[in-house]
Amino acid sequence: MIVVISSPSGGGKTTIAKKLLEIFPTFKISPSFTTRTQREGLGEGKYRFVLKEKFEDMIAKAELIEWASFFGNYYGTPRAEFDSLLNEGSDILLDIDVDGAEAIKALYPEAILIFLTPPSILELKKRLVERKRDSEKELIERFKRAEMEIKRSENYDYRVVNEDIEKTISMIKEIIEKEKRSVVTYKNS
Ligand code: 5GP
Repeated sequence: MIVVISSPSGGGKTTIAKKLLEIFPTFKISPSFTTRTQREGLGEGKYRFVLKEKFEDMIAKAELIEWASFFGNYYGTPRAEFDSLLNEGSDILLDIDVDGAEAIKALYPEAILIFLTPPSILELKKRLVERKRDSEKELIERFKRAEMEIKRSENYDYRVVNEDIEKTISMIKEIIEKEKRSVVTYKNS
């Protein structure tokens, strides 16, 4: 099973992804390559940090199944790691943006796309300002991108309004359990 979780930055998705891995031991997080600088945080285990030249070389060699560029950095899912997770029969959790999610759905139509949406744009702005990580210019870019992403979430299978992290986790747990059960067999004889 392939599950993609996306949310605008500041949406709390890294904490949620980590919790889901604890709840569902069959799931593994699909690692990403990025050119952004390393920072302390919950999500850092997921990233392989590389230089721009290396990333562009990987694009040229088609070593990424999808990639996106925003806020001046590249992010992408490496084909080799993804395929080896698939081949070992793991369930795969991807924490990627809306472009990546759409690319994964096109390649694997059975993938479940879950979008975590903030209770309101105002609340998201408040969360981004309060985490004190971005300059004013970056904040404006993030707000604009968040609005675009919320609009694009119309293409997802599920949208979860993330008001309370514990409730959100239990809703996503319910979605995954339901999807795991929902294999339908049609027979014409
Ligand atoms: P951050 O820099 O805050 O860790 O991540 C920024 C954004 O990049 C988040 O929306 C995250 O989901 C997205 N992202 C992380 N890895 C990938 C990836 O491999 N592919 C794509 N398309 N987006 C990614």
